[in-house]
Amino acid sequence: MAETAAARLDHIRDQIAATERETGREQGSVTLIAVSKTFDAPDIEPVIAAGQRIFGENRVQEAQGKWPALKEATPDIELHLIGPLQSNKTREAVALFDAIHTIDRDKIARTVKTEMEAQGRDLKLFIQINTGNEPQKAGISPDEADAFIARCRDEFGLKISGLMCIPPLNEAPSPHFALLAKIAERNGLEGLSMGMSGDFEMAVGQGATHVRVGSAIFGTRDYPAKG
Ligand SMILES: *Cc1c(COP(=O)(O)O)cnc(C)c1O
Repeated sequence: MAETAAARLDHIRDQIAATERETGREQGSVTLIAVSKTFDAPDIEPVIAAGQRIFGENRVQEAQGKWPALKEATPDIELHLIGPLQSNKTREAVALFDAIHTIDRDKIARTVKTEMEAQGRDLKLFIQINTGNEPQKAGISPDEADAFIARCRDEFGLKISGLMCIPPLNEAPSPHFALLAKIAERNGLEGLSMGMSGDFEMAVGQGATHVRVGSAIFGTRDYPAKG
């Protein structure tokens, strides 16, 4: 691994560009989300200085502790929520984030719509699909995806940008990426948020429009002991 986060960022960008070329994707069609969860401002600032503008966090409260100041210093930063959203955190989430990747139930879809209207904000929205049907994992099951996407659009009046998945830890990710792409295609959705540090190149080859890369940029995380 390169010495600094900025050098690792450069390397990831090169790998994404190379994979776009090799797999016939249009240059620049993949958006890199730098996942900064568990890292504090001093670790994030060099990555901003290296030109990265799109970041991901998985907890609303943690993001509230560091991003308002970072966003004020660099106003064109775009912040993506990639972790589960509790409905009692929706107001804060809509105020701070520019995109939410984890819309996965009616209540969240409704409250996000209400909050966006109340705050006059227009976030980019992705629906999380639990492609592995894992009981402990968030996301709507693949069987219910088409109906939920339709409800989001028709009943809740949401503009949906695309779909997101986190493949099961112990399985090959490729079939999950393929399933996500298939559900998106039959529902006329362009966005595919898939691929992390270990498999983002494969995801790019399978059509990802957004890859979420954390440890390959920021280094290994010390997970906090909370559940
Ligand atoms: C932490 C996280 C990532 C980044 O994972 P890495 O393996 O560190 O790249 C991507 N997506 C989600 C939803 C995450 O929670």
